[in-house]
Amino acid sequence: KAADKIESHLEDIAKILTQEQGKPLDKALAEMRVVVGRLRAASELSLPVKVLEEDEQTRIELHHKPLGVAAVITPWNYPVSIAAGQASAALIAGNTVVIKPSPYTPLATLYVGAIMRDVFPAGVVNVIAGNDDVGAALTKHPLVRKISFTGSIPTGQAIARVAANDLKRVTLELGGNDPAIVLDDADVEKIAEDIFWCAFTNSGQLCFATKRLYVPENLHDDLVNRLKTLAENMIVGDGMEEGTQLGPLNNAAQLNIISELVDDAKHHGGIIVTGGHRMNRPGYFFQPTLITHVKEGIRLVDEEQFGPVLPIIKYSDLDDVIQRANDTQMGLGATVWGEDKERANQVANQIESGTVWINQRPKLSPNAPFGGVKHSGVGRIGGIWGLKEATELQTINIHK
Ligand code: NAD
Repeated sequence: KAADKIESHLEDIAKILTQEQGKPLDKALAEMRVVVGRLRAASELSLPVKVLEEDEQTRIELHHKPLGVAAVITPWNYPVSIAAGQASAALIAGNTVVIKPSPYTPLATLYVGAIMRDVFPAGVVNVIAGNDDVGAALTKHPLVRKISFTGSIPTGQAIARVAANDLKRVTLELGGNDPAIVLDDADVEKIAEDIFWCAFTNSGQLCFATKRLYVPENLHDDLVNRLKTLAENMIVGDGMEEGTQLGPLNNAAQLNIISELVDDAKHHGGIIVTGGHRMNRPGYFFQPTLITHVKEGIRLVDEEQFGPVLPIIKYSDLDDVIQRANDTQMGLGATVWGEDKERANQVANQIESGTVWINQRPKLSPNAPFGGVKHSGVGRIGGIWGLKEATELQTINIHK
């Protein structure tokens, strides 16, 4: 019913989303379709009682029990689809939810909360907008038993510390610095556009966007030239205007981070292949930017940029590049590109991340868990794995 309700308001919500987040309207509509899909996928899930052991004297049953009130705290890049993923798992498991959207993007989530009044009994789905202190208050509240947080690593760490005082359960979906590793047998013509979108979808404001691109010497110049052409032909502008392919950064703070990282890369010898500047128009627009002649040890490569700037790193030794790709505290996703599928698979197996996509743009499936290793997160969303995170186990051991 929730999915049907949202579907009947799809365009209204998408327009709000574009206006508060910045993404092009067709992409906001796509996000809303993901919301509907996530709700429908969740409605198919269940965790029935399982009999673990049974004989003449004993039966041991395993029950999945709801935790109570789940706080769902979300960031500003995909506000509604992230809330839907976390909240739907919590609700299907029998919890109630309090959703706290980002202060930068509260409106589409509030709208969804308002129309959910017709679907759920009072108090089951709550949306409270506010600044960071509202999120902090929620994480300290004694009635909250579960915190599903999606956002930055420092905030995730702060929440884990607060949660520890009361041993609240946490699922933390945090930042990434995903490498894309192109192998020396890759077909550059075939993969260039996919790699472009890996990095520039939602103007780079995507947790599993490609944030470092490793290219072997033999393919480097060809791939860089193709990416340059793609970047220079992008229509960057107001998301409400038809034809717009990339919107602005969501907020001034993020624009400043991007400007700083680009300046720092230039200072350390980075060559701007294209872009490199804020656009000369009102709003937080930054040109799609490619930077070569950079490597680990500078901020743009070591940190999560979360914007339309891609560092391209030339390499000659594959084992060395796998080690460099892993030499970070982050481990959300990664992509590997090559014609020899077996070799690409072997490389994928050596990457320290929650997900690796081979020869394709990252996409999430309701049938696969998603989350980070190392500092990129704790726990998983998606499918039965996400549902289990919203429950506590109870063993009932019956003497017959
Ligand atoms: P953020 O950590 O600044 O804020 C996220 C949310 O937490 C907001 O609603 C904010 O108000 C709230 N918050 C801030 N301080 C809090 C506190 N002390 N206690 C409780 N709540 C608090 O993150 P952001 O800048 O909005 O989002 C960008 C980050 O999110 C990036 O690092 C990105 O990679 C990450 N992200 C991760 C995923 C994933 O699935 N792994 C998905 C999307 C975004």
